[in-house]
Amino acid sequence: MDEHHNYHMSPDAFRKYGRMVIDFIADYYEQIETYPVLSRVKPGDIRNALPPAPPQKGEDLSQMLEDFRRQIMPGITHWQSPNFFAFFPSNTSGPSILGDLLSAGLGIQGMMWTTSPAATELETHVLDWLAEMLDLPQRFKSTGEGGGVLQDSASSATLVALLAAREKATQYQSNNQGLNRKLTVYTSTQGHSSIEKAVRIAGLGSAQLRHIEVDDAFAMRADSLWAQIRADKQKGLLPAMVAATVGTTSSNAMDPLEAIGDVCQAEDVWLHVDAAMSGTAAICPEFRTMHDGLHQADSYCFNPHKWMFTNFDADCFYVADRRALVQALSIHPEYLKNQASESGEVFDYRDWQIPLGRRFRALKLWFVIRHYGIEGLQHHIRKHVDLARQFARWVQEAADFELAAPVPLNLVTFRHKSGDTVNQKLLQMINDSGKAYLTHTVLDGQYTLRLSVGQAFTEYEHVQNVWRLIEAYAGRLR
Ligand SMILES: *Cc1c(COP(=O)(O)O)cnc(C)c1O
Repeated sequence: MDEHHNYHMSPDAFRKYGRMVIDFIADYYEQIETYPVLSRVKPGDIRNALPPAPPQKGEDLSQMLEDFRRQIMPGITHWQSPNFFAFFPSNTSGPSILGDLLSAGLGIQGMMWTTSPAATELETHVLDWLAEMLDLPQRFKSTGEGGGVLQDSASSATLVALLAAREKATQYQSNNQGLNRKLTVYTSTQGHSSIEKAVRIAGLGSAQLRHIEVDDAFAMRADSLWAQIRADKQKGLLPAMVAATVGTTSSNAMDPLEAIGDVCQAEDVWLHVDAAMSGTAAICPEFRTMHDGLHQADSYCFNPHKWMFTNFDADCFYVADRRALVQALSIHPEYLKNQASESGEVFDYRDWQIPLGRRFRALKLWFVIRHYGIEGLQHHIRKHVDLARQFARWVQEAADFELAAPVPLNLVTFRHKSGDTVNQKLLQMINDSGKAYLTHTVLDGQYTLRLSVGQAFTEYEHVQNVWRLIEAYAGRLR
């Protein structure tokens, strides 16, 4: 039969177009600085350029690539630009992209060990490697009673931690709505929004989440946490989980894990530690003090898809007692039964997450770790931290600017001293210029600019350029 009559792309055509796509990506990285960092399209521009109806007859891939360049690229904000300083890093790398391509090519579902043993075993292995690389407590390794698993995001990690904590706190009587209404969860006023989302999804309701006050450095106050837990217990409530943060989103604040862990031990509450962005820094021994006290945590997560050259999605989630997690999340329908699972000798990661199906994400991480080696990763993390510190020094030396919070790692929060309006205008001017992209937060009630360093190709010159840009625009606002 003529290959055009089965509609599929032939292996030869795949080879040809595959090379074109790889070439496009390589060219893109070479030219990335020629694009405005923040996309300039207006709402609706992209859709208006697209044909209203899907094609009746299949089209040629070279035409699709052409349309991709013309119609899609203008609506892209260039997260991989070295001038991207917004939100948090979301860096990627050649080895990660290629590992993910292989994963797409295999097209497997790694939901259970038996559905592709290598997917499960490589994942377990790479997560144990990472536990070593970050010097995480031994209890998080699969060789003991704990273990690591890849989630799509830190949001999912927090949610599954909360589900395990909820079930543990209610003695695994999952349908006991009466008890659910008594559960309480704790995070600081700086905790990530995903914690409140998890609380709602877990059926608790936002009113059951306590936002604990923070100190001058925006870190959770353990004494206030303790007072709140005691007060809740006195009211007959059931404290279920504390979500502490290592590196908050607004200002990179580090909650004191040692003191918080002591509270959780004393009160028998699950401690989840969210180190989504900052955790990667623990690959360098000099930054590991942020994890002091982690040995008392029940679960922990960090995102290689933020600061470890691994494309979205990849969140490493660790638990100290994997039975607590599996007990909360496993359901055994007949159609999934198999010998390997029943032998108890294997991990079935479907029981460690919300969905059943799962991507082979460990491949890209394996490629990244092997390509860079520990030394390569350390080199880049140290560079990013040095660049952020250099920027912070420029802020401190400038008469019109001030730092808004300490700079423990790669995030600088700062503001012009003339107030909110000037800072808002300044941010708008920088982002409109297309030369850099920064975002903002509010700290102590004041509009604050954030410079997050961590894209793969950000060098000294890029950070210097953005500081010069900021100073120049600030001069015009005077
Ligand atoms: C980025 C971030 C999150 C959310 O991460 P996702 O993986 O996108 O869900 C949660 N907590 C902290 C501290 C973060 O930095």
